[in-house]
This record gives sequence, structure tokens and C-alpha cells, in this order.
Amino acid sequence: MNTKTIFDIGSIRINGQRLWDSLMELAQIGATPKGGVCRLTLTDLDKQGRDLVARWAREAGMTVTIDKIGNCFMRRPGRNNHLPPIVTGSHIDTQPTGGKFDGNYGVLAGLEVVRTLNDLGIETEAPIEVAFWTNEEGSRFVPVMMGSGVFAKAFTLAHAYAATDSDGKNVKDELARIGYIGAEEPGDHPIGSYFEAHIEQGPVLEDSEITIGVVTGVLGIRWFDCTITGMEAHAGPTPMALRQDALQAATCIMQEVVAAALRHGTDGRGTVGMVQVHPNSRNVIPGRVKFTIDLRNSSDALVDLMVQDVKAFAQATSQKFGMPIEIVPTSSYPAQPFNAECISAVEKAAVSLGYSSMPVVSGAGHDAIYMARLAPSGMIFIPCKDGISHNEIEDAQPEHITAGCNVLMHAMLQHAKVHQA
Ligand SMILES: [Zn+2]
Repeated sequence: MNTKTIFDIGSIRINGQRLWDSLMELAQIGATPKGGVCRLTLTDLDKQGRDLVARWAREAGMTVTIDKIGNCFMRRPGRNNHLPPIVTGSHIDTQPTGGKFDGNYGVLAGLEVVRTLNDLGIETEAPIEVAFWTNEEGSRFVPVMMGSGVFAKAFTLAHAYAATDSDGKNVKDELARIGYIGAEEPGDHPIGSYFEAHIEQGPVLEDSEITIGVVTGVLGIRWFDCTITGMEAHAGPTPMALRQDALQAATCIMQEVVAAALRHGTDGRGTVGMVQVHPNSRNVIPGRVKFTIDLRNSSDALVDLMVQDVKAFAQATSQKFGMPIEIVPTSSYPAQPFNAECISAVEKAAVSLGYSSMPVVSGAGHDAIYMARLAPSGMIFIPCKDGISHNEIEDAQPEHITAGCNVLMHAMLQHAKVHQA
């Protein structure tokens, strides 16, 4: 058997210009006047985008399989096709005011890895697959990360099919309409390991002037609604000592939300993003305040400590002000650490390629979160301009685009094992 290993795979590089050109060509479908992309999931434009990527994959000699939720798996065979494939991918749907790189980068970087292996006549032991997952963005249909979520059995296919958009159209009909209901049962598709390259969507890498983010995991999230009930009264005649000012109590708890995040490690996040003040009148003491609490951290233990702190503080505040304070949980997502071997594959690839790198956590959701429940998984982040995404001005440097794809290729090859053709 010819299994001569290439010892110097370190010299292999992807074609950055070709990857950039493909990104720009895909971004023409649904291009917005401000330079962004609006390609909502399961629309005619999404179909055009899917068709183009699948055509490119076939031109690269790959086979395309579609499952019942419209996830696409583009496969480059290996020498041993009984091995589970090394999979990479992301999504090609966008937000209404989306950019060119979010999701699209991860899919086209995977395609570029395959094109490069083809150019160089390199075979891998395990097959390589590039996937794009249906409706990652969740802006037209909820839940977000729908395709990967069904695949990982986080919720059922029937639940996803029944989701409707604001016009009352449902996922199943829209999938059928664009011709992307496949035969394969979601999840009936082996995955050896999974890597996803993505723009950071945050400011950390750019701020640190680092090229590659070695993603160690995704933050756990806890959401609450907090309601404080005081008493409305005239702002003039009511002395300070005789008030039940719900907003004053609320601002104390809001400060604690931020303080709790700062108190528990470097990855704590505490946000109050929505506030409703009743009656919201200039000369009336607020009688009721409702606000949201968003707590995140790198482990469930840490995020639960933050929750305890905020709840204990709220209880003390309630006693101090003599007002009922209610904190009701609305959503919870577990922290998802990535696989140690995948993390080290990404780190090693970055080091051997000579790129600066640092460990980072993801504060946003990605398809890789669901893949991590099924197979060893890891992610690669590259900087995006000013940390901005879900915005038409989303931008990334061509050299970072290239670097992330090189890291992706080398991390995947560590798992797929290289042979000379
Ligand atoms: Zn994305």
C-alpha cells in the first residue's frame, strides 16, 4: 500500500486570492447598496447562493448530499472512505443587514482547502467534507442554528419545519419551494471531527493585534427578566424618605449585573439591554421597572456564581428599599468547551505557520456549538474590522482571511492524515 506520508506538509498554503474572489462573487447574491449582503434563509437568493456553492463543490470533484432540513455536505473522498469525514463548514444565510464574511467565510474557506488539496494532488486518509447548515442566523425563522440544531437533536425536525416567518410561511414549505429538502435523515451522517473558521464578531483580536483566535469554547448564557414594583407618586410633593422609587432600586441591581461579570474571571459578561419604566413620565416617581439581565461566562460554574450574586443582591435590595423584586429566568444555554485536541490542532497550525495567536472564547452562537455535542470540535477566529458584524460594513483583511484558511487546512490535515497521491 502506498502510504508515503508527506513530512513537510508545513509548506502547503491555500490560494488567498481565489478564496477572496469566491467570497466577493458569493456576496453579489443579495448584495446591498451599502456593500453588505441580505440573503435570508430559504429565500430565492438563498437558493441562488446554495446552488453556486454546490456547483463550485462539484467542479472541485466533490459529491453533494442534502438532508431533510436542507443541510448540505460536500464530500471529497479519502483513501479510506469507511473513516468518518473530517468536516468543516458554517452557514451562507445572512442577517437582513448582513456582511460578506459571517458564515460565508467558513464555508468558502473549506472549499478553498479542497481546491488547494486538488491543486497539489494531496490525498487524505479520511474523507474531507464541507458543510453549510440551514438557517444559522435565525432572523427569518426561530430557532437560530436550526440546521445544526436538528442535526444534533437539540430539537426535532418537526419543530423546525413548523417555524413560520412574519408572512406565515413555514420552513418545510420554503425548503421544498427552493428544492432543498434532501433524503438523508438529519444526524445520520458521521462526523470524525469538526472545525469552523469564522470572523470573530468581536473586538478582542483586532485590539490585541493578533491574527488567529484559538477558540477554547463558547460562553454559557443565562437570561432573566427582572421586575421591581414600587409606587407612583408626584415628583414634587413626595419627600425622598417617603418614596418607593422602583427605578432607583433597579439601577442598583443593574450596577451589580456589571460588577458580578467583572468579579468572576476574565470572560464574565453582564448586560442590561432592555429597560421599561412605568409610567415613564418626567414628573412621576417610577412605580414599576422591568429590565432584562444577560449573564455569560466561560463555564457553567462561573455563570451560575454570577446568577447567585445577582439574586442575593436583588434580595438585599428588596429588603433595603421595601419593594418586591422578581427575577424570572427566560432562557439558558450551557457553556460549550471545545475539544482539547482540536484546540491544540488549531494552536499548533497557527504556530507552525508563523501567525500570532491567542486563546479566545466565543460570546456568540455558532453551528460548531452543536457539532461539539457530537464530535471533537474546534473553531478558528480571525479579526474583523472594529469587531463589527451583523452589519453591512462588516469587513475583514485579505491577509487574515488567508491566514485563517491556512490554519483551517493544517488543523484539518492533522486529523485527516496526509498522503502523496
Ligand atoms: Zn455566523
